[in-house]
Amino acid sequence: MELVYGLAIPFLGTALGSAMVFFMKNKINKKVEKLLLGFASGVMIAASVWSLLIPSMDMAKEQSVIEWLPATVGFLLGILFLLLLDSLIPHLHLNSDKPEGLKAKLEKTTMMVLAVTLHNIPEGMAVGVVFAGAMF
Ligand SMILES: [Zn+2]
Repeated sequence: MELVYGLAIPFLGTALGSAMVFFMKNKINKKVEKLLLGFASGVMIAASVWSLLIPSMDMAKEQSVIEWLPATVGFLLGILFLLLLDSLIPHLHLNSDKPEGLKAKLEKTTMMVLAVTLHNIPEGMAVGVVFAGAMF
């Protein structure tokens, strides 16, 4: 049952967050859009610092490992992993007509969906790692 909650809560959060598109579609003020992008960035940075980096350093301290080493190595590997995915997966960023990743003849909508998927892979991994850590 814990597994169901562990999967359902992040799923609902993502679905509710992305449902905002139905309230703001085509009528969002550019300043509000910038503010919301900044807000989302703040939430993601806060979540990664307090829910991932600090617990990683606390766990390393408990295991008598150099406190900052696993978090730093994992952080850098995460950056490399996302850069690799960004260069491999064909996708299109918001407000851009220049596709990135491997060349592919895909619809613009498919390329946008792949861009969102690209960003959801690390989020899904973060949720999975935190959940797995809480189970043991
Ligand atoms: Zn990209």
